[in-house]
Amino acid sequence: MTDDSRPVSGLPTNWAHAPRDALLVAGVIFCVALFGITTRPLGLLAAFWPANAVLLGMMIRSPHLASISGWTGAFAGYVAADLLTGGSLGLTLWMTIANVAEAATGYLFFRRLPEDHQRLRWPQSIMLLFAVCCCAAAVGAFVGAGAASVVFERDFSTGLEYWFSTELANAIVVLPVMLTAPQLRDIGWPWPAFATTEGTRNVMPAAALAASILIGSLMEGPGSFAFPVPALLWCAVSYSLFTTAILTLVFSMWGMVIVTGSFATPPADIDLLTWGKSIRLALALIALAPLAVASVNATRNELLTRLQDSVDHDALTRALTRSTFVERSERLLETAGPGTAAFLMLDVDLFKSVNDRYGHAAGDAALVAFAGSVRQALRKEDLFGRLGGEEFAVYFPRTTREEAEEIAEHIRRTVEKLPVDVGNGRLVSITVSGGLAIRTKGNHSTLDALFARADAALYRAKAEGRNRIIAAE
Ligand code: GH3
Ligand code: MG
Ligand code: MG
Repeated sequence: MTDDSRPVSGLPTNWAHAPRDALLVAGVIFCVALFGITTRPLGLLAAFWPANAVLLGMMIRSPHLASISGWTGAFAGYVAADLLTGGSLGLTLWMTIANVAEAATGYLFFRRLPEDHQRLRWPQSIMLLFAVCCCAAAVGAFVGAGAASVVFERDFSTGLEYWFSTELANAIVVLPVMLTAPQLRDIGWPWPAFATTEGTRNVMPAAALAASILIGSLMEGPGSFAFPVPALLWCAVSYSLFTTAILTLVFSMWGMVIVTGSFATPPADIDLLTWGKSIRLALALIALAPLAVASVNATRNELLTRLQDSVDHDALTRALTRSTFVERSERLLETAGPGTAAFLMLDVDLFKSVNDRYGHAAGDAALVAFAGSVRQALRKEDLFGRLGGEEFAVYFPRTTREEAEEIAEHIRRTVEKLPVDVGNGRLVSITVSGGLAIRTKGNHSTLDALFARADAALYRAKAEGRNRIIAAE
């Protein structure tokens, strides 16, 4: 599939959106760059500069922005933020060229990766992210090191090292948030903060992270920023990749701004620049661990979910498999105690003749259509399973005889009217027979007993001419 608004040979095909895209990118970069400038700890370069990673993330998530207008907007955003806060024109332009070159390098590498890697969904994705961030930071460093060395009044290699290490650190912690963020339309409300990958809510890992960040802030010594690592790993195995990416970003920002800023004083024989560079790089490399764990965990959970789904559901009709149906029905019966419930067995009538006349594929289509119409007649709490072949069953929790009879009869009538397309424009109709067993209030019948009674009722429905529902007494 091609995206019409994608640039072809660098030229935007949709010029109508060009001013809007340019303004959007310029606005975002202006705001993020201003934020970065406010974190300048030494009055020199920013302690935390997320702008380049945000620009790269925007371009990857919305490739239509990666046009001449988008990149121009980014350029304007950087320049405006720097000039507004008193930057000199020459240095501002120089650093802006380096910033844009850095993001563009990252974009050129990233857009060649499969989408699953771009969303960090594969176990190797974090290593690829690291490699791309290294390349982008290296390009930014080579272009911008001259400007940085002028700012620091140091030699070229100091500027090079400083730019590379800070930009690598910024990209590693900011990009995962941008790449794994859910689409706005997929975000439910209230936002499921701290929802675990099992679907429950657990604030303990996040609370442990907050506590260890606090303890880390009170401890002395350069190793204190590693205090939150165990809690971060706990978060990584508990929460989604996106939540982990946000928490890792919070941890790294804490380290970059607080530990390299006014809070921790470096030893007398290490200058501030070397100290900050070293700690930022260490923070980013530490951040790779929870990100990699969360990414592998997300892949594993997705596989487990798919595996569980195929264990639970019949591949043809998507009804519950026999074992899952029985297991879930038994669980419901147990938890319900002695109460009302109903059990319905359904068997498609003379189904062998459908296969014989129209072929096995037509028979399969009929089973799919049948299962679809049963599902539509059921309520959310009812369980629908395929016992085998053309035999199905429904478990109705907390249901009276009248309610169950009404739904069963509704199913029978719907199936009777169901036109089954067996290919080549041929429509056939099918009917179904059902046996219903009711568990009345105060009754303790087991699933096996209900099963046997429903089966006997079904046998009678067949014997009495099919296309009918019979309820066991
Ligand atoms: P009755 O009204 O007595 O139930 O008659 P019947 O023909 O439905 O019963 P019978 O048990 O003799 O035949 C069931 C048929 O269902 C035989 C089998 O080929 C067919 N069948 C079972 N599973 C599938 C399936 O997955 N796909 C297709 N196409 N046919 C199936
Ligand atoms: Mg049958
Ligand atoms: Mg049968």
